[in-house]
Amino acid sequence: MTMKKTKAETGFSVTKSREGLRLGYMETPHGGLETPVFMPVGTQGSVKTFTPMELEELGSKIILGNTYHLVVRPGLDVIEKMGGLHQFISWPGAILTDSGGYQVFSLAKLRKVTEEGAVFNSHFDGRQIFFTPENVVEMQEKFGSDIMMPLDECPPYIDDRSVVKKAMERTLVWARRSRKARRDFRLALFGIIQGGHFDELRNESLERTVEMEFDGYALGGLSVGEPAPLMYEMVEKFAPRMPWDQPRYLMGVGMPIDILRAVACGIDMFDCVIPTRYGRNGSAITRGGLLVVRNGLYSEDPKPLDERCSCKVCLRFSRAYIRHLLNAEEILGPRLVSYHNLHFFLNLLADIRQHIQAGTFTQFHKDFSSGYDAAQR
Ligand SMILES: [Zn+2]
Repeated sequence: MTMKKTKAETGFSVTKSREGLRLGYMETPHGGLETPVFMPVGTQGSVKTFTPMELEELGSKIILGNTYHLVVRPGLDVIEKMGGLHQFISWPGAILTDSGGYQVFSLAKLRKVTEEGAVFNSHFDGRQIFFTPENVVEMQEKFGSDIMMPLDECPPYIDDRSVVKKAMERTLVWARRSRKARRDFRLALFGIIQGGHFDELRNESLERTVEMEFDGYALGGLSVGEPAPLMYEMVEKFAPRMPWDQPRYLMGVGMPIDILRAVACGIDMFDCVIPTRYGRNGSAITRGGLLVVRNGLYSEDPKPLDERCSCKVCLRFSRAYIRHLLNAEEILGPRLVSYHNLHFFLNLLADIRQHIQAGTFTQFHKDFSSGYDAAQR
């Protein structure tokens, strides 16, 4: 007799650790990857301005998709008929899909949230859609997402404890139902820890979510408008309390210095729209901080975006040319800045892994922070 499988085929192991710092290896149905890892965001099935070939070239092993956006358009049927999300978007690596709970509560015209789920009208065509913990898992299984996130209620930064407590409790009820709804055990399902900035709520959420035995855990509800020191405080307190032998994911964070601080607390996975959003706006993330290429200061500057960067864009193009492209609204401008930015983030994580391996992370963290103008965040 075989036991019913309750764990995903997505495996994770800590391969090296020292004083709370950790290196890990994650196996997914679409290949393995080393952690800490940065996951580029491809909300609508595209990491904005990048071809999948470019993502491979940059060494990206895992990208994000968003259930809400993909269900709104092109719709679940199209993706299913096209052979699942990987095949539809032609991405051979791993995919983590966010449930879209955050978008349901922020973007959609929300009709009603009950214990059962959320009824909303699509922001795209007004179509009425009903999200329940069960059907959100079912949708992600139809996508074939390597890592699925359950439907949760993520309140904005708010000082009202009762609102945060209610969202935390609903998230727990929904987590239990999500876990029961799983059918495809090759795919991983993570639990999301809520509780805002209230210690006792975070702690309760963490303990009760871990009891349910998910394949990994995420700190949710951070980077939602709270002051940076408060976010750091939460990550410093709660990351070390997350299960040691499972992946720890800090949702939606963040700038390079946020990532470094979270890595120091033992976080393994990050996602953020910053590289591509800033890229589209013409802001480059560099070792010195933010560089607003559009600025007139750079109109005759022959230097690359970042003098210490070895990406294809920095090896070839000047600030002056990229500034011209942005001002002339040439589509190449946002593409070039986005390429540099994503290279910067993926390279930062590669450096982080190398320094953890070599035992020199603390010095690297210190050097990076002192050379980075945090005032420009
Ligand atoms: Zn570069």
